[in-house]
Amino acid sequence: MYLILLGAPGAGKGTQAKLLSEELGIAHVSSGDLFRENIKNGTSLGLEAKGYMDRGELVPDATVIGMIIAHLETEACAKGALLDGFPRTIPQADALDTALHSSFSDSIQKVIYIKVETEELLNRLSGRWICPVCSTPYHEVKNPPKVDHLCDNEGAALYQREDDKRSTAENRLQVYFNQTMPLIEYYLKRGLLIEINGQQKVEKVNQDILAVTGSNRGELSEPLVA
Ligand code: AMP
Repeated sequence: MYLILLGAPGAGKGTQAKLLSEELGIAHVSSGDLFRENIKNGTSLGLEAKGYMDRGELVPDATVIGMIIAHLETEACAKGALLDGFPRTIPQADALDTALHSSFSDSIQKVIYIKVETEELLNRLSGRWICPVCSTPYHEVKNPPKVDHLCDNEGAALYQREDDKRSTAENRLQVYFNQTMPLIEYYLKRGLLIEINGQQKVEKVNQDILAVTGSNRGELSEPLVA
């Protein structure tokens, strides 16, 4: 099964993807996490991506497409994947279709669009702090750790992603509006898009997504029609 989680930075795709990949038994594939792992390991891919990421820009299509398709071919994705942060442009979506069709004789089953208003997105991004050990996200106001700036699970000092700082976050949202939002129409026209209200509690968003994907794998509900 191949599902796409679509939404702006800060919409909660990563949080939902972690829950859903366990519930649905498929791999969580996050392009942002793969880039951050490459940066941590000092690979040439990481080196290439870092400048774009720090500025809140998109990494070039050819680079991200190559990385994701290679990852989909690994054993970890044998049962399919829940794609988080990919595709982000129409050429990426086209490349994904072609690869799924030719290499896996498969296709995208559903595109879950998590919708959140712009002001809320900016507040979420610029207040977000993350544990460097377990990646748990916290929020300065809405979900602070028990002890200031320390992870509840690991006790590690939390950090703010370079690209979550306010001016970069604004740039990331602009890039999303210009380059990624056209995908909503793209998947709507193909009858694959399902819209979910992302301004609810994490558990409720998760329930709403499960209801449309069917916790019983393979039972998928009807998408929106264009
Ligand atoms: P994310 O963690 O999904 O917010 O991604 C962090 C950053 O990684 C983005 O702001 C981009 O610079 C880069 N990135 C992640 N996924 C993609 C993608 N599909 N296409 C281009 N750049 C990406």
